[in-house]
Amino acid sequence: MHDDRTLVESRLKRVLDERIRPAVYPESVPLEVGIWTAPGEPVPVAEGLAAPRTPIAVGDAWGAPWGTSWITVTGTVPQAWAGRTVEALIDLGFDANMPGFQCEGLVYRPDGTPVKGLNPQNQWVRIAAPAAGGEQVLLHVEAASNPVILDYHPFLPTELGDKDTAGDQPQYKLTGMDLAVFDETVWQLVIDLEVLGELMAELPVDGARRWDVLRAVERALDAIDLQDVNGTAAAARSELAGVLAAPAVPSAHRISAIGHAHIDSAWLWPLRETVRKVARTTANMTALLEDEPDFLYTMSQAQQFAWIKEHRPEVYARVQKAVAQGRFVPAGGMWVESDTNMPSSEAMARQFVHGKRFFLDEFGVENHEAWLPDTFGFTGGLPQIIRNAGSKWLLTQKISWSQINKFPHHTFLWEGIDGTRIFTHFPPVDTYNCSMKGSEIAHAARNFKDKGVARHSLAPTGWGDGGGGTTREMVAKAGRMKDLEGSATVRWEKPAEFFTKAEAEYPNPPVWVGELYLELHRATLTSQAKTKQGNRRSENLLREAELWCATASLRTGAAYPYEQLDRIWKTVLLHQFHDILPGSSIAWVHREAEATYAALAAELDSLIDGAQQALAGDTAGGRELVFNSAPHPRSAVPAGGAAPAVFGAGACEVVERPEGGFLLRNGLLDVVVDADGLVASVVEVASGRESVAPGTRANLLQLHPDFPNMWDAWDVDQFYRNTVTDLTAVDALTALSAPDQATVRVARSFGSSTVVQTLTLRAGEQRLDIDTEVDWHETEKFLKAAFPLDVHTERYAAETQFGHLYRPTHTNTSWDAAKFEACNHRFVHLDEPGWGVALVTASTYGHDVTRAVRDTDGGTTTTVRFSLLRAPRFPDPKTDQGLHRFRHALVPGAAIGDAVREGYRIGLPERRVTGSAEQVAPLVQLDNDALVVSAVKLADDRSGDLIVRVYEAGGGRARGLLTTSYPLAGAVPCDLLERPWDGTRGEVAVEDGAVRLALRPFELVTLRLSAAG
Ligand SMILES: [Zn+2]
Repeated sequence: MHDDRTLVESRLKRVLDERIRPAVYPESVPLEVGIWTAPGEPVPVAEGLAAPRTPIAVGDAWGAPWGTSWITVTGTVPQAWAGRTVEALIDLGFDANMPGFQCEGLVYRPDGTPVKGLNPQNQWVRIAAPAAGGEQVLLHVEAASNPVILDYHPFLPTELGDKDTAGDQPQYKLTGMDLAVFDETVWQLVIDLEVLGELMAELPVDGARRWDVLRAVERALDAIDLQDVNGTAAAARSELAGVLAAPAVPSAHRISAIGHAHIDSAWLWPLRETVRKVARTTANMTALLEDEPDFLYTMSQAQQFAWIKEHRPEVYARVQKAVAQGRFVPAGGMWVESDTNMPSSEAMARQFVHGKRFFLDEFGVENHEAWLPDTFGFTGGLPQIIRNAGSKWLLTQKISWSQINKFPHHTFLWEGIDGTRIFTHFPPVDTYNCSMKGSEIAHAARNFKDKGVARHSLAPTGWGDGGGGTTREMVAKAGRMKDLEGSATVRWEKPAEFFTKAEAEYPNPPVWVGELYLELHRATLTSQAKTKQGNRRSENLLREAELWCATASLRTGAAYPYEQLDRIWKTVLLHQFHDILPGSSIAWVHREAEATYAALAAELDSLIDGAQQALAGDTAGGRELVFNSAPHPRSAVPAGGAAPAVFGAGACEVVERPEGGFLLRNGLLDVVVDADGLVASVVEVASGRESVAPGTRANLLQLHPDFPNMWDAWDVDQFYRNTVTDLTAVDALTALSAPDQATVRVARSFGSSTVVQTLTLRAGEQRLDIDTEVDWHETEKFLKAAFPLDVHTERYAAETQFGHLYRPTHTNTSWDAAKFEACNHRFVHLDEPGWGVALVTASTYGHDVTRAVRDTDGGTTTTVRFSLLRAPRFPDPKTDQGLHRFRHALVPGAAIGDAVREGYRIGLPERRVTGSAEQVAPLVQLDNDALVVSAVKLADDRSGDLIVRVYEAGGGRARGLLTTSYPLAGAVPCDLLERPWDGTRGEVAVEDGAVRLALRPFELVTLRLSAAG
C-alpha cells in the first residue's frame, strides 16, 4: 500500500484547527459590557458589585498593571436557542498560552456568589443546558490585570514586578464577550481526534495500531461535511468508536492522575494576588468535581486553604463539602510548599506541624505524603522530619530539572542523614502541570526507570504555577485513556491510593542515600539577602521567644502567648515558600517580606523582653543578668538560663607590624592582618597550628561576573568562576584595642560599591569574628568571601536540619562536579584527624568548597567561600542593591561539636537585663554537649506541659541525662505534632525525676514533660 501517513496527519491538523474546533460554538450573540476600575488595591466583593459601571466595547483597552476592574456582562438568550446548551464566553484579552501568568477573572452572580475563575484555557460560563430561550444573563467579573512578567521577553529586566514602578499603561484589550451555543457533540469529536492524533504520533510507525488509528481518523474526516460540521459530527465520532474501544495491553504503564494546580504562594505576583488565584482555581475545581463524577482533585499548602476560608467563605464551603466526599483531597501536610534547603530544623518541623494540624482541625484528615513537586532540592535532614511528622511518603518531580545528571530512579527509598528511609516517587511525566497530552502520557511510560519491577506512576494534572487547575478537556481526555490500546492507562486516584499501590508492587525498591541535590537554581541560596536574613532572624527570635515565654510561664505564671506565636510562626512559614525565601520572586514580594520580617522582629523582641524582665524581676534591683538562649553554656551562663555576666579571661592586644598591618592576640589565637587588610595567618596558640594555607590569605573578597543563561535570580552557571577579581585594594586599615577585644577595621571600594569589614578577637574566645558591611551597587556580579585553609580532606561537613551532611571537596564524578554551589545552615566544618576548622555564618546559606595542591610544599589547600551577594536583574531588576550586613567567624581547632556550638552562638546573641534576681535556672539541662536542645516551648494543646526537642548533633551515639529545675512527673516521647509516639528509636526513660536519653547519630526526639503537683 502506498504510504499516505503524513498526508492524513496534516489533514487532521488543518480540519481540526480550521473547521471542527470553531464549530464547537456555532452561533453567538454579543453581550453588553460595563466596567469599573478600582482606584488602587482590590476592594471587597460587595463594593465591587455595587460600583457604577461605564460602557466598554470589545477591542477597548483596560487594566493597568496589578489593577482590578469589575466587569459586568448582560444579555438575553435568544428564543431560537431553546433546547440547546448555552454558555457565556468571556475573553478578557487572553493570550491562549500561559494561564496564570496574565490577566484572570473570577465570575460572580449578582448576589455575590462566586461562580468560577476565568483564564485563557477556561473562558466559558455555563448559562443553561438546555436553555428555555429568553433567559436574562447578568454576571460580574472581578478581573485582575496582572501583567505578563516572564513569557514574552523571558528574563529581560522589567519594572512591571512592583505596583510602585509598573506604571499605568493598560495591559489588555477586551477580546470577546458573547453568549454562544455549545455543541457538545462537536466538542466530544474534538477530544476524540486530539486523543487519537496525539496517541498516533507516539506509536511506532511500523506497528499495526498506528495504522488502525490512522485509517479510523481518515474515515472520520471523510464523514464530516465541512460545510455542516455540526450536522455530521456524530457520524464522524461513530467512525472513531472502534479504535477508542480497543483496550490497553496488559503490560501498559499505569498512571494515577490527580487533578492539581501547583499554585505558587507568591512569585511573579504578590501574596495578596495568590489569595485570589486560589479562590479562582478552587471555584473551578469544585465546579468540575460536580460535573465529572470520576474526577478527583488535590490541593496542598494549608495556608491556601486558610486564605480561602478567610477571604472567600462561599468557595470554602464548597471545598469543605468536596473534602467530606473524599474528592477534594488535601495533600502534603505542610503549611506551604517550602524551600527545604534553608529553613532551620525547627522551621522545617513546624511546616509539617501547622500544615497537618490545619487539615486535622478543619477536615479530620491526616495525610501521609510530603508533597513538594517544585521545591529546589531536598536536604538529608528531611526524611527524619517527614517521619517524625507521622508521614511516610514524598512526592517531587523537580529533580528531573537537574542540568547534568539523570536521576536513576523514579520510585525508591530515600535515606536521610540519620538513616530514616522515606518511600519516594518522582512522577516520570516530569511535570506537575500535566495536561493529558498524548506526548506527556507516552513520555511518562517510556521515561519510567523502574519498568519490569513496578508499573505505577503519578501524574499531577492541571494548569499550575499561576493557577488554573484541571480543565474539562483534560478530564475528557483522561476518560478516553482509561483503557486504550497503545497508551498507558489513566485513572483518577488520590495520592494515598497511588502510594499504597506503588509500595505494594515494589517491596524492595532501590535506595538513595543523602540529599536530593537539584543541579539547577543554585543561586537561590544567595539571591535577595535581606529576605534570607529576615528568615534566619525570625527563626532565632522564635526560639528565644518560646524559650523565655515558657520559662516565664512556668516560673512566674505569666500568660504564654499561644495565639501570637502561632500567627508569627505561620507568617514565617509562609515566607519560606519556594519562591520567597529562595529570592526568586518579583520586587514587590521581597519589599513586603522585608517589612513583614521587621514587624515580626519588633513583636518577638517585645515578647522576649517582657518574659526576660518578668524573670529578672524589678529593675530597681540593679543586678545585670545575661540571658543565654543558645543550647550550650557560655561565659558561665547556663544554656537556657541567666546569670551575672563574667568577662572572658585573658588580655587582648593589637600590635602594629613594622612591615604594615597588625598582629591580633588573645592568648588563644594569633592573627596576622596584612597591610592590605587580608588575613595572612591564624595560629592556634595551644597547638601552634596554622589555619591559613601557605601562600594564600583568608577573608579575601572575590568578585565574579554572574550572568546565567536563564533564570537570573535562580541560577549561577559554572562558567562564572572563569573570571574573578580579588578585592585587595584597601582604602583604610585601622586598629582598635580594648581589654576584652582586639579589632582591625578594613575599608575597601570597588566598582560602585564599598565594603567595611571588622575583624575581632574577643577575650577567652577561640574565634575570629568577621563583620561585613557592604553598600552594594553592582550589576550581575557575585561576591564571595574566601578562606583558603591548610587542611587536607576529601570531604567537608555542612549543617542541615538536625545534623550535618558531607560533600566531597573534589570533582571526581559528574555528580560531585555539579555541586559547585551548595547550602549550609550555620556552619561548614573540615578537618584532618585530630584538628579541624569551622566557618560559621549568621545569615548566609550558599557556599563552595574547592581543593588545590600546592607546588611549594605539596600540601593541600581547601578553600571555603561563603556567598555574600548577587545582583541579578530578573525578576527583580534591583535585586540586593543597597546596604547589607553579614557576620561570619573562623574557628580554628574546631571539632564538629565546636562548629555546632559556635553556629548557635553567632545567631543567638546574649541579652542583658537589669533586675533583682540573682540568676534564672534553666527549665531543662543536658549533661552531654552532643545532645542539643532545638526547642523549649509550652505544648500547643495548652495543657501546660513543656515540650523539649533534643537531637544528637555530632553524628555519633550519645547518652545523657535531661534534668529539670522543677519536679518532673513524667516524660512522654512524641511526634512533631506533640502526640504520644512510639516511633522514637532511641532510649527515653524517666529515672529519679530525670530523663535518661540514648540517641542514635542525628536522632531527634520530642519530649512532653509534665510537672509534678
Ligand atoms: Zn512552584
